[in-house]
Amino acid sequence: MKSGDVSKLYRQYVLPTYRQFEIAFAKGKGSKLWDLEGREYLDFFPGWGVSALGHCHPDVVHALKNQARKLMHVPNNFLIYQQAKLAEQIIKASFPGKVFFTNSGTESNEAAIKYARKYGASSGRYEIITMSKSFHGRTMGSLAATAQAKLHEGFQPITSGFRYAEFNNLESIKEQINDKTVAVMLEPIQGEGGINVADSKFLSGLRKLCDEKKLLLIFDEVQTGFGRTGKLFGFKHYDFTPDIMTLAKALGNGVPIGALVVHERIAEGVFTPGSHGATYGGNPLVTATALAVLKTLLKKNLASRAESLGNYLEQKMKALKEKHAVIEEVKGLGLMRAISLTVPGAAIMEACLKKGLIINCTQDKILRIMPALTVSKKEIDRAFEILDEVLQEAAVTV
Ligand SMILES: *Cc1c(COP(=O)(O)O)cnc(C)c1O
Repeated sequence: MKSGDVSKLYRQYVLPTYRQFEIAFAKGKGSKLWDLEGREYLDFFPGWGVSALGHCHPDVVHALKNQARKLMHVPNNFLIYQQAKLAEQIIKASFPGKVFFTNSGTESNEAAIKYARKYGASSGRYEIITMSKSFHGRTMGSLAATAQAKLHEGFQPITSGFRYAEFNNLESIKEQINDKTVAVMLEPIQGEGGINVADSKFLSGLRKLCDEKKLLLIFDEVQTGFGRTGKLFGFKHYDFTPDIMTLAKALGNGVPIGALVVHERIAEGVFTPGSHGATYGGNPLVTATALAVLKTLLKKNLASRAESLGNYLEQKMKALKEKHAVIEEVKGLGLMRAISLTVPGAAIMEACLKKGLIINCTQDKILRIMPALTVSKKEIDRAFEILDEVLQEAAVTV
């Protein structure tokens, strides 16, 4: 089968929810991918942040295969020891509290929204404040939490109970608080919104505000989690903890798993038997795999690798900015980086792809660069050679 044959099947049988490239991948290893025609690609946006250990990491493959042979699924009305172990490991790596397992980022956020509402029910509070340019997922609750009008279009009525404030602007959050407010939810670094880093004064002010007004502070760490930003979690860049943290993407490195983590200060008496559930959530197959992911991350100290390689990447981006006037700003933390352009970035991204480099373009003018935490310096050098070439050629044709 060739990529063209796959494309034909898509056109006939798959709903067109994605704009797609005519490329179908057959295998991957580390930061490399090969398509059905055998062409090699350097992947600097592996699985939208999912494949943080690189494609087909041997420890992850090993754990997945082993577990698949033994037991893949049992329901949550029995004890699942891999799930219990994984919850323990996530808590030890983050903050004291408890975990609920889901299958995706949006489901983790749905769980957080339900958690906040149940928490506020006794005091009649249910409103959640979220930020401009946020992204929390595509299901109805998370979609309502996502403050981007273009994503709401056609899906009205949007779930009520959400108010929107401006990211990095504490005053605008204060303006949205009333006696119905129960929580504030945000990404410590906005991913889809264009790699916008929350500044630490804003966040520490927000933590204080939430304490004063008895609001839950919810961090969506679906994209920032598991070493991406140079620390194991985004909140670790600051000297406080959120009350709730949501996870997915890199937790499974390719198996569908997400998690809701609630701090011990609010962990009791909110979710009780029957409050919430997920048939697949935390089954033996995915939790055994995620255990191997977390173990590898910690053993290889990949968060600090993301920090040092992130600094290297930043130098490369700054050098590129010196050379190309079309680059307006370089931003990000760890291996979660972006180059913002003065012109639309789609053509640049596509030109990179033609030369075998995969990156992402978001919010029209922002090139998102998020290689695996296992990426090598040599691979970073190669990626920036390609970017340099592409920007050079684009300048010539303008
Ligand atoms: C990707 C993402 C989501 C949605 O995750 P899905 O697994 O696609 O549902 C939610 N929040 C953030 C910050 C994300 O980056």
